[in-house]
Amino acid sequence: MNGRHSSLKRVDYLKKLANEPLDLLVIGGGITGAGIALDAASRGLKVGLVEKQDFAQGTSSRSTKLIHGGLRYLKQGELKLVREVGRERAILYRNAPHIVIPEKMLLPLVQGGTYGKLATSVGLWIYDRLAGVKKEERRIMLNKEETEAQEPLLRKDILKGGGLYIEYRTDDARLTIEVIKTAVSFGAICVNYAEVVEFIYNEGKVVGVKVTDRITGSQYFIQARKIVNATGPWADQLRAKDHSLRGKRLHLTKGVHLVVPNSRLPLNQSIYFDVPDGRMIFAIPRDHITYIGTTDTNYHGVIDRPRVTKADVSYLLQAVNHMFPSVHLTERDIISSWAGLRPLIHEEGKSPSELSRKDEIFLSESGLITIAGGKLTGFRKMAERVVDLVIKQLTDSETIKLKQCHTDQIPLSGGRFSEPGEIPSYIRELVRVYQSIPFSEDQIRFLTGLFGSNTKGILERAKELYDEGNYTLQEALILAELEYTINEEMVTNISDFLIRRTGRSYFYRESLNPEMIQFIQDKMSAIFGWDEERKAENLRKFEEEHRSFVEFVEHEDE
Ligand code: FAD
Repeated sequence: MNGRHSSLKRVDYLKKLANEPLDLLVIGGGITGAGIALDAASRGLKVGLVEKQDFAQGTSSRSTKLIHGGLRYLKQGELKLVREVGRERAILYRNAPHIVIPEKMLLPLVQGGTYGKLATSVGLWIYDRLAGVKKEERRIMLNKEETEAQEPLLRKDILKGGGLYIEYRTDDARLTIEVIKTAVSFGAICVNYAEVVEFIYNEGKVVGVKVTDRITGSQYFIQARKIVNATGPWADQLRAKDHSLRGKRLHLTKGVHLVVPNSRLPLNQSIYFDVPDGRMIFAIPRDHITYIGTTDTNYHGVIDRPRVTKADVSYLLQAVNHMFPSVHLTERDIISSWAGLRPLIHEEGKSPSELSRKDEIFLSESGLITIAGGKLTGFRKMAERVVDLVIKQLTDSETIKLKQCHTDQIPLSGGRFSEPGEIPSYIRELVRVYQSIPFSEDQIRFLTGLFGSNTKGILERAKELYDEGNYTLQEALILAELEYTINEEMVTNISDFLIRRTGRSYFYRESLNPEMIQFIQDKMSAIFGWDEERKAENLRKFEEEHRSFVEFVEHEDE
């Protein structure tokens, strides 16, 4: 196996990072760090990125998974921001259409709700124009009867009408890994399970870091001309290590999502609806499940492991049962969940929901650059601002000649389609090419939804394995997928594969039967040469994390 971003070569990559001084080291492999690595590498800088867990294991796999058009910013009067995120959304749709998918969103207008009829109509009209929404996707206002027909499960006594508009759904963890892979294709070296434990200084300026490989325990020293701290909720921990935690600080708030079978909340489209306490939450159908979220509460627990509490569950279930009175959801309906931390900037006296979602850059006297706040949606622009700053600070003649940011023109890994509308014909073509096997259309659609234009390579390998005669079709497919993600997406354990690369623990939990998990565990053991102890430890860790998605705690710090 000889991929460009293979977990079998992690140690080689770490040695390489330690051997040659970099122009830029990025700390943190969430969407922010990934975006910076891509921007910098594509402009010609020599870039490294280290992530202490798996890529996207922090907030970037725990969001509402929407590429927002910025409706919320419109309400706050931030017109410039609405225009920027609208433009970003269009760019992402063009560059990664397999994971950025337009979906209808219904905003029900209710008595005492956040949005009034006229304000919504005008607001969505302005939003469409500012965000550059295509004509066919522009908002439609509905009266009460039309809204009821559009979504029969909505409660009727308080309903006044509705607004239908378009939002874009994504898979945050896959978006992050596709950005990382694209950065790697431009020469960046990105390694997971590599934790920055110390900064190294020369005359008060930060010139490198000490990194611990959390898989082997080895330590490495990496030198870089500039270092960016893109560690989201952990950003203040690194600023403290750098002795520069002064002035503005992070304010972490927790957001929880619950997953229920689609049959228990069978919505016709996504809904953004009012909650009695004045907030608004989403219910988003996706294949055969619907997910609901989010909460927004101050967080003081352990950053590495935010948990869903019983109070979070009860808040979200009550909210759904209030707006959809016939469904009677209970805790027993929940098949998965996730909790994420928003790395917001603290503002005195503001409640979690009032805090700005804008990003901010902090410069330390040591030269460390920290970026925090922001949204998944705006990652490309955040990266552009950071890399502009890095280049401004690296004033040597070589760096000055570097290209301007051009990530808007770079298709992400898996996004190599001439236009988004090509995906259905790509799937049809794969069904045709492999009709002798025969992979089902559903299987091919599932893979294309994860891997986009990289799917063909996976199917080709699955065909090879199937033709060898040792595997069932299902086994050949899962093994090809596993090999691909080990080889090209740095999967190092069962959790990386089943949680963040393929979302099975969240969205396809029923497919995870003991035989399949055993098969994956055996194959990984053979590929990585695990002994029995390591094999058992790996399974135990996965089972613990997988179980935690349906086990709700009384207190955050349990
Ligand atoms: P993270 O993803 O947390 O990445 C930081 C990384 O740094 C982590 O992976 C961590 O392990 C690593 N790290 C920490 N310390 C070290 C160290 N010492 N060495 C090496 N690595 C280290 N945005 C949207 O656009 N749309 C949405 O729908 C949306 N919904 C949201 C819903 C919720 C509930 C939340 C919490 C956020 C939502 N957001 C949304 C915001 C968005 O998810 C975040 O802004 C974004 O994911 C933050 O990414 P990040 O890379 O800055 O942080």
